[in-house]
Amino acid sequence: MERYYGSYGGQFVAESLMNTLKELETAFEQAIQDKGFMEEYAYYLKEYVGRETPLYYAKRLSERFGTKIYLKREDLNHTGAHKINNVIGQLLLAKRMGKKKVIAETGAGQHGVATATGAALFQMDCTVYMGKEDVARQALNVFRMEMLGAKVVSVESGSNTLKDATNEAIRTWAKTAEDTFYVIGSAVGPHPYPRMVKEFQRIISKEARAQILEKEHRLPDVVIACVGGGSNAIGMFAEFLDDPSVELIGVEAAGLGIETGQHASAMALGKPGTLHGMKSYLLQDQDGNVQLAHSISAGLDYPGVGPEHAYLKDSGRASYVSATDKEAMDALKVLCETEGIIPAIESAHALAYAFKKARTMTQDQTMIVCLSGRGDKDVNTVADYFAGKGYMN
Ligand SMILES: *Cc1c(COP(=O)(O)O)cnc(C)c1O
Repeated sequence: MERYYGSYGGQFVAESLMNTLKELETAFEQAIQDKGFMEEYAYYLKEYVGRETPLYYAKRLSERFGTKIYLKREDLNHTGAHKINNVIGQLLLAKRMGKKKVIAETGAGQHGVATATGAALFQMDCTVYMGKEDVARQALNVFRMEMLGAKVVSVESGSNTLKDATNEAIRTWAKTAEDTFYVIGSAVGPHPYPRMVKEFQRIISKEARAQILEKEHRLPDVVIACVGGGSNAIGMFAEFLDDPSVELIGVEAAGLGIETGQHASAMALGKPGTLHGMKSYLLQDQDGNVQLAHSISAGLDYPGVGPEHAYLKDSGRASYVSATDKEAMDALKVLCETEGIIPAIESAHALAYAFKKARTMTQDQTMIVCLSGRGDKDVNTVADYFAGKGYMN
């Protein structure tokens, strides 16, 4: 299997992990060819996660912005976002490989909660690594993970955030890979993770493509998703990649504005480099040190992007834009008030650009926006933001 997307991707890890990655790659490629495995995956997506999710025609939004807007409702999944699709896939693979323990790293806590959820479902021993800063500011998610039976390890090194938690998880994995599976939560990391995460998120576009063909009898003109590491976006793009008439757009977080330097747009100003086992676009300073990303949305606050997105950008198949904190928060309000849906702040970035794009389209064109998650987790941040209190990411 190809380990690179153009010049991006690869396996930039310690020699001691190479065999582990090889074993994982072989197990994964066999599993997705195995009808029994894929049926079990489909069973849990339907019966446990609650798929398929609706492709909802947002009538009032469409009237307001002048083109037909459909929302792919990943917010309606169990645990409130798309992340569970991937976690179920990876945990079933772990089971198949005979691994009884799982580890994960988490920043905002969303991937940690999804992993703890799946580990409870499959009765696996689960440890989640989290930077000390994040443990403090995401106390509710730490409590959720503990309720679900996971152990949360507070990592004290470097900036005490996701970057450091990830390094700690990789170090632990190198020592314990014999009986331990490392669950990565976005389309990042060394091969085969970006490919695995894409395959386990492909269900989003598989459903959406069939749903739009049924409703509109033709393909959408535009497909839009927000990009943190890029898992909901690659899942939303996957089944449209070979349809050149479908314009694919990823929306990164512009934080306080790209020009302020306080943002998370790896592809707007980032340069290729290596982080967390992969080569991709990263936010770096002049000396090549990875910079901290900045966004009101904790889920988009990652200094890199998955390698396939780097490739899709360079090849021109997809384009990448960004939305600021303010644009996202305004779009969040619009969705609440016009459709009665409170989106995650991450998803609101996709909406912010979607509304701009819609104004350039005609009334009979169609757009699908991936509503990656629901906003229940964000109400405190929203309240503080609109009260002018700022935020702590
Ligand atoms: C984690 C998260 C994201 C960002 O992750 P991707 O891997 O880029 O999809 C987006 N939306 C929600 C709701 C999330 O929880």
